[in-house]
Amino acid sequence: MSRFLKKQYESLEPYTPGEQPKVDNLIKLNTNENPYGPSPRVLKAINQAQVSKLMLYPDPEAAELVSAIAEYYGLDRDQVMVGNGSDEVLAFSFMAFQNEESKFYFPEISYGFYKVYADIFQTRANPVPLTEDLRVNPEDYKNLDGTIIIANPNAPTGIALELEEIEGILESNRSNLVIIDEAYIDFGAKSCVPFLQKYDNLLIVQTFSKSRSLAGSRVGFALGSKALIEDLNRIKFSFNPYNLNRLSILAAKEAVRDDAYFQETRKKIINTRRSFTEKLEALGFTVLPSSANFVFAKSGQLSGKEYFTGLRKKNIIVRHFEKEPISDFVRITIGRDEDMEALLEATRELLERKAK
Ligand code: PMP
Repeated sequence: MSRFLKKQYESLEPYTPGEQPKVDNLIKLNTNENPYGPSPRVLKAINQAQVSKLMLYPDPEAAELVSAIAEYYGLDRDQVMVGNGSDEVLAFSFMAFQNEESKFYFPEISYGFYKVYADIFQTRANPVPLTEDLRVNPEDYKNLDGTIIIANPNAPTGIALELEEIEGILESNRSNLVIIDEAYIDFGAKSCVPFLQKYDNLLIVQTFSKSRSLAGSRVGFALGSKALIEDLNRIKFSFNPYNLNRLSILAAKEAVRDDAYFQETRKKIINTRRSFTEKLEALGFTVLPSSANFVFAKSGQLSGKEYFTGLRKKNIIVRHFEKEPISDFVRITIGRDEDMEALLEATRELLERKAK
């Protein structure tokens, strides 16, 4: 820490990203990436001619991408804002809508970045505990006095809320902003997009990192009322107007237009999740009901740490959170069928060794 760092950041605890190993011979199931890769249309669009245009700044409006997203969701263009990953969109939301006096409610077990944003943007964080079975209880979010953010499905549990439950939260918080983080929405839960017609207190945040297989491109977006989107763009144009680079704009535009590939790959992941869950349960694991591209599971025999470390030694990386009440669980990204079979085989070996 230098002597120049602002006092307020001295105690800031940054987000810890999942490991991004530099070696290739690993089965990487730790950061919820999509194993199928970007749409072939993306690969075709990022060609030499496009790369040779990198001396030019990108379109600060990212107009073609904004139009493609708006068209896909049946919204107006002025209801869409794009950012450098949904992380940046979330950060802009904090900058736009929170200050030292305002409160901010979020599930205590959820995406770790929410707390970090609350800290860096100096707003009052109010973590709300999950139920004993690790669910978000919608009743806990009724009639509050601050901004609410809920990941639906939640991470790392994968459990989704029903649309009626979210509507109850929106309805009872008409004077509060409700942000629904739909990073994993395409793997089985229902999106709140239809509620945008009715609720001007709703902001939806989504990403191209998961269901559209573009984590390396860093593209996220927000959907909301024209006024909310205008506010977010006010921040974006005051901070980093060229936040999306030329190639990412192009990649995301092609990805959103290739619906056939999107449907095919997301269905494959849902099917793999179903069969993998059954097989893991057959090995005595408790697996939370997931609507995401990962499962949150715990073994009856191995502690979370033992299982995580055992898999790591066998070159398989999953995610483990050394935090109560979830320290016995690991989060396993749904990869290709063969990745999941390799993980199951490694799990059987670890269980056998433990039983000896
Ligand atoms: N929200 C949730 C719930 C997430 O798990 C993640 C990914 N770690 C993000 C947002 C951020 O995703 P990205 O910045 O890649 O769009």
